[in-house]
Amino acid sequence: MSNTHTNDTLAKARIAVLGYGSQGRAHALNLRDSGLDVVVGVRKGGPSWEKAHAEGFNVAEPGDAVKGADLVAVLTPDMVQADLYKQSIEPNIKPGAALLFAHGFNVHFKRVEPRKDIDVILVAPKGPGALVRTEYERGRGVPCIWAVYQDVTGQAQVKALSYADGIGGGRAMLIKTDFKEETETDLFGEQAVLCGGASSLVQAGFETLVEAGYQPEIAYYEVLHELKLIVDLFYEGGITKMLEFVSETAQYGDYVSGPRVIDAGVKQRMQGVLKDIQDGTFARNWIAEYEAGLPNYKKFKQADLDHPVEQVGHKLRARMPWLQPNAAKPAEPLKKAG
Ligand code: NAD
Ligand code: MG
Repeated sequence: MSNTHTNDTLAKARIAVLGYGSQGRAHALNLRDSGLDVVVGVRKGGPSWEKAHAEGFNVAEPGDAVKGADLVAVLTPDMVQADLYKQSIEPNIKPGAALLFAHGFNVHFKRVEPRKDIDVILVAPKGPGALVRTEYERGRGVPCIWAVYQDVTGQAQVKALSYADGIGGGRAMLIKTDFKEETETDLFGEQAVLCGGASSLVQAGFETLVEAGYQPEIAYYEVLHELKLIVDLFYEGGITKMLEFVSETAQYGDYVSGPRVIDAGVKQRMQGVLKDIQDGTFARNWIAEYEAGLPNYKKFKQADLDHPVEQVGHKLRARMPWLQPNAAKPAEPLKKAG
C-alpha cells in the first residue's frame, strides 16, 4: 500500500469525520484501520450516533469533534453543510487545520466561505461508501480525485494525498482536479446522463412501447431490467465490451438507431444543462427550492414514483427473489452514481 503520505503527515493528527452515512462510515473505518486517530461527529440521539458508537468509535457532537481536530472531513448531506459550517465548524476549527470535502458544491458555489486561516481540500472517491469499505478490506482501494482550494500551511496537498491514502485510494489511483471541475462535472453527470438522462430515456422507451399496444411487463424487461446487463458491460470494459457481447443485429440497430434517438439536439440541450451548472443557475434554483421546503422536488419525485413503469416494476421485481435485499448474493447497492 502506498502509505507514505499518511505516515508523514497524518500519523499524529486527529481526524474528525462529520457524518456517519455512506461515505462517513467508510472513511472513518478505513482511516482507523490505517492507524489514524479518528473521532466521529454526529448529532446526539440520532441513529448514526448509536451506530458509530457500536462500531467502537469515539463519538461527539459535531462542534466538540471539530475542537482539537487537525483535519475535519465534512461527510454530511450537501444541503446541511452550510449550517453545519456556520454552527459547528467555523467557531471551533483550529488555525492551520484542514477542512476536507467529498464534493465541492458548497465551497464552489460559496455557500461555505471557509475561514482564511485553514487549509481547504477535497478527496472524492469514485464509488459509493460501501465499495470504498469493501475494497479497502480486500487490500485494494477505490480511485479518488483530489483538490486543494486553499493552502495556508503549505501542507494542504500532502494532507489531501495522506487522507486519500488513509481511505485506500492511494492503492488504486489518485487524480488531481479542482473544486470547479469536480463540482461541475459531478452535477452534469448525474443530471444529463446518470440519474436524469437514464431515467428519462427508460421512461420514454417504456411509454413508446406501451402506447403502441405492447404489454407493460414485456416493455419493463426490454427497457429497464436489461439495462443492467448493458451497464455492467460498460463498467467492466467500456463500449468495446458491450459491442463484443451483443449480437450483430443488436450492434447494427445500435449504429443506425442510437444517433436517431440521441441526436445533435440532445447534445445541444446537454450544453444548456452544463451552462446552467457553470453560471450558477442550477445551484441558485436548487438552494431556493430546498429552502422553500422542496415543493417542486416533492411533486417531481411523486410523478416518477407514480409512473407506470414503477407500478409494473414493483410487481415484477417481487417475483425475482435475487433482487431482494436479503437474498444470498445481493447486488452491490449503487446508492448514488456521482
Ligand atoms: P449520507 O446521507 O449517506 O450520510 C449523511 C450523514 O450525515 C448521516 O450520518 C447523517 O446522520 C449525518 N447528518 C445529517 N444531517 C446532519 C447534520 N445536520 N449534522 C450532522 N450530521 C448530519 O451522505 P453521503 O452520501 O455519504 O454524502 C456525504 C458527502 O459525500 C456529500 O458531500 C456527498 O456529495 C459526497 N459523496 C457521496 C458519494 C456517495 O456515493 N454517497 C460519493 C462521493 C461523494
Ligand atoms: Mg453528485
